[in-house]
Amino acid sequence: MTAMATIAESRPSLLPAGVGELLWETSNDLLGVLGPNGRLIRANPAWEAVLGFTLAELLTMELADVIHPEDLPVAQAQFARLMASGDPERDRDLRFRHKAGGWRWLAFSLTSTPGRDTVFLVGRDMTGRRLAEEELRVRATLQDLLLESLPLAFYRLEFTETGRPRTTLMTGQVEQLTGFAPERFMGESTLWEDRLHPEDRERMLEARRSAQDAGASAQEYRWRHADGSWRWLFGFVRFLPAGAGRRPGLVGAIIDVTDRKRREEELGDLAERLARSNQDLQQFAYVASHDLQEPLRMVSNFTQLLSQRYRGRLDREADEFIDFAVDGATRMRALIDDLLSYSKVQSGSEPFRPADSDQALDRARQALAQSIGEAGATVTHDPLPAVLADPVQLSQLFQNLLGNAVKYRGAEPPRIHVSAQDEGEFVRFSVRDNGIGIDPNHHERIFQVFQRLHGRGEYPGTGIGLAICKRIVERQPGGRIWVESAPGAGATFHFTMRRGEDRS
Ligand code: ADP
Repeated sequence: MTAMATIAESRPSLLPAGVGELLWETSNDLLGVLGPNGRLIRANPAWEAVLGFTLAELLTMELADVIHPEDLPVAQAQFARLMASGDPERDRDLRFRHKAGGWRWLAFSLTSTPGRDTVFLVGRDMTGRRLAEEELRVRATLQDLLLESLPLAFYRLEFTETGRPRTTLMTGQVEQLTGFAPERFMGESTLWEDRLHPEDRERMLEARRSAQDAGASAQEYRWRHADGSWRWLFGFVRFLPAGAGRRPGLVGAIIDVTDRKRREEELGDLAERLARSNQDLQQFAYVASHDLQEPLRMVSNFTQLLSQRYRGRLDREADEFIDFAVDGATRMRALIDDLLSYSKVQSGSEPFRPADSDQALDRARQALAQSIGEAGATVTHDPLPAVLADPVQLSQLFQNLLGNAVKYRGAEPPRIHVSAQDEGEFVRFSVRDNGIGIDPNHHERIFQVFQRLHGRGEYPGTGIGLAICKRIVERQPGGRIWVESAPGAGATFHFTMRRGEDRS
C-alpha cells in the first residue's frame, strides 16, 4: 500500500479511487514518505528524474548522503519540529546531491501522517528558478556597475496619454554633464527641451517624437549647461513599446562630447587655413616667377646688347662688370624658370593615370643624352612596372635624378642603375649612382628649395631639382622620397609611386 493510498484512506472523500496512484506515478513533483528516523522509505519516479539515483539507491541512503552539509541541520530541524508539533512545514529550498555531481535546489513541504509515525513530503525542483535568479542578480550587478562607472547619464521616459514625455528614471551622472540634479529632469519637467540650442531644438524634439517609428536614434546637439556654457552632448535613444502595465516610452543615454567636438572644429579650421595659405603661396610663387620673367628678359637682353656692342670699347673693368651683369641675369633666369616649374608641379599637373615607367625613364635619358654622352655615363635598369602618375612629371622626376647622378659624379665615369621593388600598394624606385655621395647630415636638407651643398663654381645648379622631385612624389597621398648615401660611396635615391595596372 502506498503512502498516497494511506492518505487517501484517511480522507476518503477527497480523492476518488485510483487517483492517488496515478498522481504518484506521473507527478513531476517529488513525492515521498519518511520513516520515523527521517529516512526515505518510499519515493515516486520523479526522484530518479531529478536526482539521478535509482529508487533502490535512494531508499538505502541516509539524509546526510543526499543533503548538502550546510543544509543538513535545517532539514533535521524541520523534521524534528514536525515530529514534535505535527504542524506542516513548507517550502524551504535545500540542496540535494545529484548522482552525476553538483547540487539541485529542492523545496519541500512536509506533513505528518496521523499518529506521526511517518511523514509525507512533496518536493519541487527549484534549480532552474534559482539559477535564473542568480543570473538576474549578476546582470543587475553588472548593470549597476555600468550605470555607475560610465560617464553616461541614463534615463527612461514614457509618453502620457496626451503624448507628453514623462521621465521616470535619470541616473546621477546627469549632474556632471548638465550641472542639474537628476530630480530636476524627472516627471514632466521641460528642463531638457528648454535648454536645447535654438539651432538644434527642432531637430531634437522631432527626433524624440519620431523615435517610435525610427526604433532608435543617435544625435549630437548643443545644450546649455547650468554654468551657462554650451556643451555638445551625444544622445542615444531606443524606443520601448508598451508592455504589461507600462506605457510606450524611451530609454536613452547621454554623454558629453564637447572636447571631441572642439578638437574636430579646431582641426577643421586648421585644415582650412592651411589649404588657404598653401593656395596663397602657390599663387604667389606662380605670379612672382611668371611676372618676373618679362622684366628679366629686358635686363638680360640689354646686358647682352651691352656686351656685344661695348665689349673692348670701354676699359677692362667695364668689360668685367658687363660679364657679371650677363652672368647674373642668366642665373636669375635659370632660378625663375626652375621656380616656375616647381610651382607648376601642383597647379599644372595632370590627374594620375596608368603610366609606363620604362617610357618615362627613356624620355629622361633622351633629354639628357648630351650630358650622359659627354660624361661617358652608363644607365641601366631593371624591368620597370606601370604606376599611377602624371607621365610628364614621372619623366621629370627621372630626369632630375639622372641629371644629378651625372652631375655629381666622382673620378670614375658614372654608372647609374634604376631598379623597382614591389611594396604592396606602392612601387619603390631606386636610382643608384657611383658619384661623390652625400653626408648623412644633409640627407633631409637637400630636398628643400634652394638648398645646395656646393658652390656654383664647383657644380652649376639652382638647388630646386630635388625639391621638385619631392613635390611630385608627395602629390600622391603616402608618396615618399629619400636618399641613402655617404661621402665617396655614391648615392641611392628612393621614391615610391602608386602601383598601376600590370603592363600588357
Ligand atoms: P642642384 O643640383 O641644382 O644643386 P638639387 O635640388 O637637384 O639641386 O640637389 C640639391 C643638392 O643635393 C645638390 O646641390 C647636391 O649637393 C646634392 N645632390 C643631389 N643629387 C646628388 C647625387 N646624386 N650625388 C651627390 N649629391 C647630390
